[in-house]
Amino acid sequence: MGAANLLDFDLDGLAAFCERLGEKRFRAVQLFRWIHQRGAADFQAMTDLAKSLRDKLHSAATLAPLKVISRQDAADGTIKWLFDVGGGDAVETVFIPEADRGTLCISSQAGCAVGCRFCSTGHQGFSRNLSTGEIVAQLWFAEHTLRRQFQTTERVISNVVMMGMGEPLQNYQALVPALKTMLDDHGYGLSRRRVTVSTSGVVPMMDRLAIDCPVALAVSLHAPNDELRNQLVPLNRKYPLDELMAACRSYLPHAPRDFLTFEYCMLAGVNDQPVHIEQLTALLVSQREAGMNVKLNLIPFNPFPDSGLTCSDRPSVQRFAESLLAAGFVTTVRKTRGDDIDAACGQLAGDVRDRTRASLRMQALRRSSPGLVQAVQWHTKPKAST
Ligand code: SAH
Ligand code: SF4
Repeated sequence: MGAANLLDFDLDGLAAFCERLGEKRFRAVQLFRWIHQRGAADFQAMTDLAKSLRDKLHSAATLAPLKVISRQDAADGTIKWLFDVGGGDAVETVFIPEADRGTLCISSQAGCAVGCRFCSTGHQGFSRNLSTGEIVAQLWFAEHTLRRQFQTTERVISNVVMMGMGEPLQNYQALVPALKTMLDDHGYGLSRRRVTVSTSGVVPMMDRLAIDCPVALAVSLHAPNDELRNQLVPLNRKYPLDELMAACRSYLPHAPRDFLTFEYCMLAGVNDQPVHIEQLTALLVSQREAGMNVKLNLIPFNPFPDSGLTCSDRPSVQRFAESLLAAGFVTTVRKTRGDDIDAACGQLAGDVRDRTRASLRMQALRRSSPGLVQAVQWHTKPKAST
């Protein structure tokens, strides 16, 4: 048997592993803290662990970081890393600094099998699930790299969103220990409210997440009726809106806040017409009457080559937001971040073979639309917060 990758374990998993080495649980706690809180990768540097344990780890364990292919820094402070996960696959991780938080957007799969019409990852198809270790390695690497860069010992990443490449609830087995590591006080100590799983609506796994690890949930709605949602989010054919809404209602009592978030990608002429506002309002009102509070997050569509789609214009997005607000639903419009480095939602393609093309595309974009490169103020050092 090969050496175990310690990034694959949540604390219970690490305790079981240590037990197999003949070590007590408190040793696992020490080791877990070294890895996740201090970013240590070298067992010999873990000076308060007994020499005998360090030697055992040396032969039985590894700590396998991901290989960085590239790092791009956007004008607004957003950072995108491309990681090599082997076999020609790569995944992307995005850090988004804001005045009061630092958010890391993490990938769960190389590619995605759901195949949403408007998503670059979906167009790429499915390659494979990431392991727990590959999911956690994105946070481990970003957190400790940024601490070194900002010369701080305080936490830099306060929020995690599982909104990178892939459908997290189609990689459930690997996802849950990764979430537990993010939440663990001996790990990253993130609050449940600040860890968000975004899903296109894998109904049975929403039910399980409510029990196993009830973090904040964002549901990718994108259409107010089954006919349109079937086209935009093909998973809707398997789990149509009434089943999805029922799963949302039963998740809510387990959620860390008293609402769920619905994401709605604004596509010109496709899902942004007055009839869609009407249907969406009716859908949300019926859910409210059934006891469910929702917040709407409108995401202006981020274009990618060959999508054949365009983003709704500003007045349409505004009209949508205002109507929903008037109906009493908290609605926000997601600010596009890092668009000069193709780091925005749905632009993550992460194909190693594609990266030359991607960087040429970026240069072309810079040349053709310098206005797109927003001069958003760069918050030099995101405050660590709880
Ligand atoms: N697979 C999960 C999480 C990853 S995508 C999901 O679908 O929820 C994170 C969010 O970005 C989702 O709401 C997704 O629908 C949205 N998205 C995908 N492609 C997009 C694009 N090109 N423009 C804007 N949002 C997009
Ligand atoms: Fe997959 Fe989410 Fe993209 Fe749909 S939007 S293809 S579920 S990553």
